[in-house]
Amino acid sequence: MLSSVTILVMNAGSSSHKVCLYQLPDPTPRWQGVVDWTKEMGKALVTTKTAQGKWEEVVPVTDRASVLRDFLATIWQGERRVLDRPEEIRVVGHRVVHGGQVYQQPVPIDGQVKATIREMIKFAPVHNPANLGGIELMEEVLPQVPQVAVFDTAFHSQMPLPAKVYPLPYRYFEQGIYRYGFHGISHQYVAGEAAKFLQRDLTDLKVITCHLGNGCSLTAVRGGISVNTTMGFTPLAGVMMGTRSGDIDPGILIYLLREGLTADDLDRLLNRESGLLGVSGISNDLRTILAAADNDRAQLAYQIFIHRLRGAIGSLLANLGGLDALVFTAGIGENSAQVREDVCANWEFWGIAVDPDRNHSRPCPIDISRDRSKVRVLVIPTQEDWAIAQACYEFVVKGVV
Ligand code: ADP
Repeated sequence: MLSSVTILVMNAGSSSHKVCLYQLPDPTPRWQGVVDWTKEMGKALVTTKTAQGKWEEVVPVTDRASVLRDFLATIWQGERRVLDRPEEIRVVGHRVVHGGQVYQQPVPIDGQVKATIREMIKFAPVHNPANLGGIELMEEVLPQVPQVAVFDTAFHSQMPLPAKVYPLPYRYFEQGIYRYGFHGISHQYVAGEAAKFLQRDLTDLKVITCHLGNGCSLTAVRGGISVNTTMGFTPLAGVMMGTRSGDIDPGILIYLLREGLTADDLDRLLNRESGLLGVSGISNDLRTILAAADNDRAQLAYQIFIHRLRGAIGSLLANLGGLDALVFTAGIGENSAQVREDVCANWEFWGIAVDPDRNHSRPCPIDISRDRSKVRVLVIPTQEDWAIAQACYEFVVKGVV
């Protein structure tokens, strides 16, 4: 039996850098920090949280790497430190968005893994460079500490070919243009937690997991394996999101290209100017949309959001051929009773019925379905960092790192 193991989890994105320190097997983080690069030009908002309190500081940014080095050092230096020495960290786990065709499981990071993450920048130009930057920073700050990559695409790697392959000329599939799916760490985690909550074996369950945050995706999980998901070759596909369109007729892109828009224009339009923000014209934040009861476009944005979610669940359900549990997670899924109610409205005919009182109850995880509902409707908080820490812990237990 291992004594406690200290694991640092890093989630490096383009707009923020999130770090979490765990002392496994304890699931409560000992230290949590976020560097948000987007608050002000030339400045970053640094937030740290420990059992002792929470601190927020705005710091000047001349060089992001030096801000991150100082930020990490506060884990083992200064009055807020929670470790005496950086060497106490046993493993660093990284969330990596795109693992390409190669990685179906978490892997210890070596030169080959880094080369693959770099190679996949062509498919994930925003996320993979940030993930790689996080890995290289940790190699510099903690050179003796092994690092592990946990991929957002890995959970979907066993999707059957009819779900994976686009109906394009086959050579594009051979070039790697197929449906990878994303949010896999979250979908896998909440599907596993659903099985635990229901005291059932995951291998016997059919589950649809709805990760509804700023980015939204849904996954059909059969026997613990992702068999279909709404995101595709990129995280732009699928349901409507905060600023992303989700699925639209590809003919629109051809039309707009002919109208003179460039690839960069389309990228901005579809990734940052569409979704709830694009339709409502007021916000990408669902709370603002829901609060704008007298704004017709905000109402329309919400109705499209629900319409598309219901359609996506129906489509996943049709190919899943049955359903034991529908799981809601992430910012919207965990917090918006309204969304859960509207998504599941009038679905008694296929055995889904939400109980209004339970839907407003806490704490999570919780079953919000009526007793007579054949399908259990669950709200389960996602904990991607904790899932990554657990993957690292398994490697330590097995002596892999
Ligand atoms: P990210 O994908 O960035 O991790 P989150 O999972 O934090 O995003 O989800 C952000 C979304 O959750 C926002 O659209 C926000 O409006 C929504 N959200 C958070 N709290 C609530 C709430 N109480 N009611 C409705 N929506 C909420």
